[in-house]
Amino acid sequence: MRPADRQDPRSPEPGGEACWLAVGDGAARALAAHWHRASGGQDVPILEASDVHDALTAFGSRPITGCVVSATVLDARPRAALQHLKSRLGLAPLMVLDVGEDEEACRIARELGVHVLEPEGPDARTTTTTAEPLPPSPRRTTPPRDESRFSPPVEEPRPLPEAPPPLPRADDDVPEQAIVDAGSFAAGCLELIHKPTSLIEYVLRTLSEVSNAGRISLMLKEAERGTLVLRAGRGIEDRLIGKVRCALGSGIAGRVAALGRPAAGHGSSGGARAYRSSAYVVLPLGRGRGCEGVVSMTALPGNRVPSDEIVRAWTQLGRHAGTALRNARRMQRARSLSNIDRLTRLPNRRAFERALHREVERARRDASRLVVGIMDVDHFKAFNDRHGHAIGDRVLREVARRLRAAFRETDLVARWGGEEFAVLLPGLEREAGEPLEPGRAMERARSGVRTRPFTLGEGLPTARVTVSGGYALFPDHGDQGDVLLRKADDALYQAKDAGRDRVQSA
Ligand code: GH3
Ligand code: MG
Ligand code: MG
Repeated sequence: MRPADRQDPRSPEPGGEACWLAVGDGAARALAAHWHRASGGQDVPILEASDVHDALTAFGSRPITGCVVSATVLDARPRAALQHLKSRLGLAPLMVLDVGEDEEACRIARELGVHVLEPEGPDARTTTTTAEPLPPSPRRTTPPRDESRFSPPVEEPRPLPEAPPPLPRADDDVPEQAIVDAGSFAAGCLELIHKPTSLIEYVLRTLSEVSNAGRISLMLKEAERGTLVLRAGRGIEDRLIGKVRCALGSGIAGRVAALGRPAAGHGSSGGARAYRSSAYVVLPLGRGRGCEGVVSMTALPGNRVPSDEIVRAWTQLGRHAGTALRNARRMQRARSLSNIDRLTRLPNRRAFERALHREVERARRDASRLVVGIMDVDHFKAFNDRHGHAIGDRVLREVARRLRAAFRETDLVARWGGEEFAVLLPGLEREAGEPLEPGRAMERARSGVRTRPFTLGEGLPTARVTVSGGYALFPDHGDQGDVLLRKADDALYQAKDAGRDRVQSA
């Protein structure tokens, strides 16, 4: 081969002079370095491509002598990308440059029999004496002239890989909405970290709009169970939310979540149902181990896999969403550790459970009686449906205030969860120096809620709200906190069955 001038990587030259191909940042330098030792004084041109798609399309049928591809440009779908490169290269060698952050791509490369170059490895060491460490090079660089001397690669011929089915690409007709401004998306997410449900909805809506996917779902990690659970979706039955789980590390979604790396491609006909014969993109919500979950998009428009560039842009959105979700989770946890319910300012369930344990032990020691009660707002779902969640919240705050007012200072009124409140009435027989009928305080609380109508807001009509209650006594109905709670809950359901707006003893 004769020395050749640098080629314009953009000018396709069908059947032109043989060349080397460097794909992605650092690949050209690594290519030069790797073959420097074996150089027989022959120069060949290096063509550079910014990504795999570029490599496959920009150089027509020009013979390629060998190719180094940086693992960083394989992140979206390493297997498909490598298979395409292999079939483009035929018998010419293909190498992957591992810069240390792309284990999954390198693993798949090895699995496919592709040689992986490691910058720290012996191959790279030969060059560090003559070349600088791998630079944070811009997307297209021209390697120094003295590095462009190569010999043809010495590699065992290997059988031609089976050409994978052609993947339709969306490059030529990228919908304009496919790329959104990552900065404003990140800001939108961060605004919602106090409201995890709205945050999830925002993430789902944005990714649904940019992808136009027929089906999109968001799954979150349950670290303690080692699973992902379906949290929200579009084009997915509601009853599956909170029910569908998959193990971290298995299946496409499980692997994306475990590795924190995106995957895209066409589902095989025998694969998971959601992906079967469908173009899919699965994005990690976060990075590496900090991944909070995944968003899976299937039934993409025209059944086309988006370009690497688009998958990268979406991955960026997923990373921002992951950061916000992590913060939201931390805040939720901090709140539950704080013992106070944010909406009603009452003690929360955790505080109640602690107090219950403590008071049962005390009652046992004192041989005194204790009431454990649960009160639940009647037909509150319908109330929310009619008046909206915000007004529902306001009513819950007022119910909490009225319940608190109905009991003694020494009683505990807590928000058990949702529209349910738990009460703990210790030292019952000592009120006013005379024995108190256990149900009386519960009755007082019930009527305190129903007597006066609730104001729903300025200019709005008022509404009546009622509560039902159930209670159990220590030691009469049980001598452990959890037993008492269960009996109180059973009694509550009897009160509901009997028509609501009433209090029932265990
Ligand atoms: P029942 O009389 O049998 O208790 O009927 P219900 O509709 O109250 O019971 P259900 O358990 O079906 O629904 C409880 C509803 O309470 C559902 C949910 O919308 C509402 N809810 C729970 N927590 C909150 C909250 O923090 N704010 C508001 N606004 N609503 C809540
Ligand atoms: Mg309820
Ligand atoms: Mg209710």
